[in-house]
Amino acid sequence: AAKAGGKNMARVFLPQMEDSLIMRARLERMLRDAFAHSRDLFVFYQPIVDLTSGRVVSREALMRWHDSSRGWIPPKDFIPVAEEAGLVYELDSFVLHAACRDAAAWTDEASVAVNISASSVGQGRLPGAVAMALAASGLPATRLSVEVTETALMSGGNEALRDLQALRDMGVGISLDDFGTGFSSLAHLRAFPFDRIKIDGSFVQDGDRRSDCAAIVRALAQLGVTLRVATVAEGVETPQQRQRIQADGCTHAQGYLFGRPEPTLRDVPRLREINALHVC
Ligand code: C2E
Ligand code: MG
Ligand code: MG
Ligand code: MG
Repeated sequence: AAKAGGKNMARVFLPQMEDSLIMRARLERMLRDAFAHSRDLFVFYQPIVDLTSGRVVSREALMRWHDSSRGWIPPKDFIPVAEEAGLVYELDSFVLHAACRDAAAWTDEASVAVNISASSVGQGRLPGAVAMALAASGLPATRLSVEVTETALMSGGNEALRDLQALRDMGVGISLDDFGTGFSSLAHLRAFPFDRIKIDGSFVQDGDRRSDCAAIVRALAQLGVTLRVATVAEGVETPQQRQRIQADGCTHAQGYLFGRPEPTLRDVPRLREINALHVC
């Protein structure tokens, strides 16, 4: 029986372990390949709305990867792989270039927000990459903002602050992403003058059922008012959530209620060709 159990375990457990190792290695190879050809990498855009005017004032650039055999691979699966494989600079540069080029063509003058991996803040290369993307596209620096998480500030130390200050000096906006998750500290808000705080969508959604989550959103929104920093509620999906976050004092919102991440018209033919118009 013990032997059978062992056999069973081997059958159930080992192949999974092997799978995940092989999967990582394969993902890394596929990702390098995708960067080399950049045919299967896309940048989608999701609107950020000013709650007072109801207008789209900004769009967040969200990276998308479609592999012919595996279909859509979500950022949460490939960004850690890029980080471990040392491909973060390539990833940042790719998104920055695409985002600045696309935003330069928007007729509504909305700004574009680009996520920057924590591991690339504080390396000293970020300001240069941003400057190159701005120069290549002609986009004014004031129409670009970067989104960083608290992890970037914690692991990047003074170097991280120096990189962000260099961007700030260029006129680029800086958003604190996913605020409230991870190791949130008000010291982060004092250490650096962010111009936007993004309140993680989990608080907005859990606020439907949990008064403590609703209270956290309210407190963060009030903090934004006091610090004169815009507060973006993420993950707003229902009119009720919109009403609540607006009453709480959030100045901006983002979520499926206002619009899903969508491809640019330029990418539509390619997406049709690979039969991948319907996405995450
Ligand atoms: P994030 O920066 O907090 O982006 C917001 C995420 O919430 C996006 O997921 C977006 O599709 C999703 N979202 C937006 N509205 C709603 C909603 O109403 N309901 C729900 N349930 N979700 C909503 P996505 O695109 O899968 O990205 C996940 C994370 O991956 C991002 O979180 C960001 O941290 C990272 N990421 C995405 N694109 C890039 C990129 O180009 N570079 C880097 N470094 N990170 C990226
Ligand atoms: Mg973001
Ligand atoms: Mg976020
Ligand atoms: Mg998030």
